[in-house]
Amino acid sequence: MNRPLTPELRAKAPAYVKNARLIEWVGQIAALTEAADVYWCDGTQEEYDRLCQQLVDAGTFKKLPKRPGSYLAVTDPSDVARVEDRTYICSQKKEDAGPTNNWMDPAEMRALLQTGDKALFKGCMAGRTLYVIPFSMGPLGSPIAHIGVELSDSAYVAVNMKLMTRMGRAVVDLLGTDGDFVPCVHTVGAPLAEGAKDTTAWPCNPTVKYIVHYPETQEIWSYGSGYGGNALLGKKCFALRIASTMGRQQGWLAEHMLILGVTNPAGKKYHVAAAFPSACGKTNFAMLIPPAALGGWKVTTIGDDIAWIKPGADGKLYAINPEAGYFGVAPGTNFKTNPNCMDSLKQDVIFTNVALTDDGDVWWEGMDGEPPAHAIDWQGKDWTPQIAKETGAKAAHPNARFTVAATNNPALDPAWDDAKGVAIDAFIFGGRRSTTVPLVTEARNWMEGVYMAATMGSETTAAAFGAQGVVRRDPFAMLPFCGYNMSDYFQHWLDMEHKLQGQGSNLPKIFCVNWFRKGADGKFVWPGYGDNARVLKWMIGRIEGQAQGEGHFFGISPRYEDLDWTGLDFSKAQFDSIIDADPTAWQAELKLHDELFKTLAYHLPAELTATKQKMEAA
Ligand code: GDP
Ligand code: PGA
Ligand code: MN
Repeated sequence: MNRPLTPELRAKAPAYVKNARLIEWVGQIAALTEAADVYWCDGTQEEYDRLCQQLVDAGTFKKLPKRPGSYLAVTDPSDVARVEDRTYICSQKKEDAGPTNNWMDPAEMRALLQTGDKALFKGCMAGRTLYVIPFSMGPLGSPIAHIGVELSDSAYVAVNMKLMTRMGRAVVDLLGTDGDFVPCVHTVGAPLAEGAKDTTAWPCNPTVKYIVHYPETQEIWSYGSGYGGNALLGKKCFALRIASTMGRQQGWLAEHMLILGVTNPAGKKYHVAAAFPSACGKTNFAMLIPPAALGGWKVTTIGDDIAWIKPGADGKLYAINPEAGYFGVAPGTNFKTNPNCMDSLKQDVIFTNVALTDDGDVWWEGMDGEPPAHAIDWQGKDWTPQIAKETGAKAAHPNARFTVAATNNPALDPAWDDAKGVAIDAFIFGGRRSTTVPLVTEARNWMEGVYMAATMGSETTAAAFGAQGVVRRDPFAMLPFCGYNMSDYFQHWLDMEHKLQGQGSNLPKIFCVNWFRKGADGKFVWPGYGDNARVLKWMIGRIEGQAQGEGHFFGISPRYEDLDWTGLDFSKAQFDSIIDADPTAWQAELKLHDELFKTLAYHLPAELTATKQKMEAA
């Protein structure tokens, strides 16, 4: 007897699942996608090990004998980074997505993805298992946290979500019978014909990709990619794009920021949140080890990528890291630049698109020591230093990544999992600029700080598809991640000042940094990494009202004698070359601000244009 399956039967929910909406929805998606099976992730270690073994058997993972519990995955060459031109904000009104987001009418998008004759999600999981992945962004049960459920046909996604979020049965228990969750649907977009098997270790859709957000109904639909930022939907899609729209409505901030604790030699602790665009140094800054010569400064990590920040009753801003792991850039990471990170990578890591050495370990450009005499590169080809010299071939993809649980980090802050969050003393904004932008500038007030962040530019990196090294405006490092109109987002930041002042708060100071100025030889002038602690020390000095600086037309920067140079050989001439704000270069820069403002025109807060005029007149 062939009875049609009800959603309840299709959902195959274990007895502990009591949430009717969740069961119904899983059943509907299983029907739409024609998934061959449904599996509910419980988040246990046993399950993680089993899924990893399954990925090894399928050829997607290679076990790495030198790093216990660690695996290497290499992707399809078409699937190595976020796809910004395939990313959509489908609000009812185009204006609400704003001029910096791709937009499509929600009904039109739904027809394309779900309801039309040739809808992409129809049958997209044929021959595959649908994994139900319940996760909490933020500590379980925290008033700042939110729950999501991702349905994905990728076991790679399931195991990455285990490392990156609080994932599993505890989340379903917390949902109870009627708890709310953000529904996230993900498919690699490679259905299998009856009886067919994968012919590749990285199934994806090399030509069709959609990363879609419906902010009004708070839904995420992702098609065709298995890569982190496109497929681990708790991260950029939920914790930034959807959460930024929640924050706007509810009076809080969802930001592309690391959060760190910094303790001075006297034992006083401060908290700093810093926004740098993708592949511009968040993970490194969050884990930095201050030079011992500075005399007992300590940095601890709360988060390395995303901050959810809410005003407290005391008028201070409290930040949590909604994630539970790091999805970091491997190339350039070594024991000299980031020892905490290297120590985090000794065990229980998923590496993606790094090279495999002949002795079964991983390697990437910029790792310590000599390059291996021979390795298999991320595309499965032979790699030798000679081949690299002749063809420029990279052993690891420039956007190769590691996924690791936060608990692997030796510098993890004791408060990283604290439901209440940490009180922020300073915000830092920084781009990757080989010219023009000084090493560090303090904004004279909140308004000018918002102006600096809003007009920030940065050279594009391998973290997103497209040309690299091109300067583009990246307001607040949120250009690819703001789920609503960028001008309204600026207004939301401006409103925060009045809200906090109304509660009698000392506002956090705002700084702008640039670690990436280059000399005539094309090399970075500033040593960066651990030595960024020298800049951090100056900032703390400014907060304490002790450190000095010199005012210029858009803020206050340190003079040579204002930074602590103990243990570093860095001349005044070198310093001058990275701290100056050259008037000619800044005239060109201000034109770029004009262009941004012209693009945003419609909603742009008048205070920002007024601030610009004031700066230009100064
Ligand atoms: P994230 O994507 O923002 O977290 O950036 P990462 O911290 O992963 O860094 C991205 C790339 O920038 C890596 O190749 C790092 O080695 C490099 N990087 C990070 N911090 C610095 C710095 O202070 N100076 C220089 N020159 N490079 C840095
Ligand atoms: P990140 O983003 O480069 O800011 O760490 C990760 C991603 O692009 O998925
Ligand atoms: Mn990072």
